[in-house]
Amino acid sequence: MILAFGGYDPTGGAGVLMDARAIRAAGGYAAAVPSCLALQSTAAFSRVVPLRRDVIGDSLSCAAKSFRIRALKIGMVGTRAAAEAILAFAGENPHIPVVLDPVLRASTGAALLSRDSLPAFRKLLCRAGVLTPNLPEIEKILDRRVASFGEAIVAARDLSFATGAAVVLKGGHFPWKGKRGVDIVFEKRRVTLLGPGARPRRADAHGTGCALASALAARLAAGDPVVEAARTAKTLLEEMVASGFPSAEGRWTLFG
Ligand code: PLP
Repeated sequence: MILAFGGYDPTGGAGVLMDARAIRAAGGYAAAVPSCLALQSTAAFSRVVPLRRDVIGDSLSCAAKSFRIRALKIGMVGTRAAAEAILAFAGENPHIPVVLDPVLRASTGAALLSRDSLPAFRKLLCRAGVLTPNLPEIEKILDRRVASFGEAIVAARDLSFATGAAVVLKGGHFPWKGKRGVDIVFEKRRVTLLGPGARPRRADAHGTGCALASALAARLAAGDPVVEAARTAKTLLEEMVASGFPSAEGRWTLFG
């Protein structure tokens, strides 16, 4: 079982509903514990509704009692209560591999991690086995601008060294010619570049970060090495984007 921990997006376009679909597409069985309710339509974020820490903790215990958790995928954490609950759970279960997608903001600009979550969130970064930031996220975490593809490779390395995690730096936001969609994997002191497939990309697709990290976690749980898991997750994501559809608000929604 792969446990997805993240925001509950009622549209299913992102958050744990998206995670569950991507985990299934990657061949895994998904369980999901919400960190908070992330109320939104496909076009606009409305608000975060916090869940109590004990509710989150009890939900994690229910999932952990029921199945052997082969990977934990963490997406939007949202609140301090959620950050502390998932940090405690990950600490009590040190054998579970953690894939952390450091979700900081919605594409619409809304903050998806409260300031007072940062101390626990920084500890979570160091508990993760794999981190999957995009360009704005790695800039924020390292607190510096990344101005070229070369600097992006160095940033992936620096984040990996600082946390001990493998880093999959997603290239969807890269503004550099010929580099958009090239993912940088830094693992065990080695850099691997994963080029985009031939399918058309959709800049406006929602939930792509959720889907990639979830599929990656499912492939790791199935025994794939990190680079292979990242490669397969990227292909699966591209398929989900290609078979997507526009929401009633015109936002491209992944299907799979
Ligand atoms: N998780 C939740 C619950 C969200 O609401 C969002 C964005 O709104 C995200 C994650 C991030 O989505 P994406 O995968 O598009 O980065």
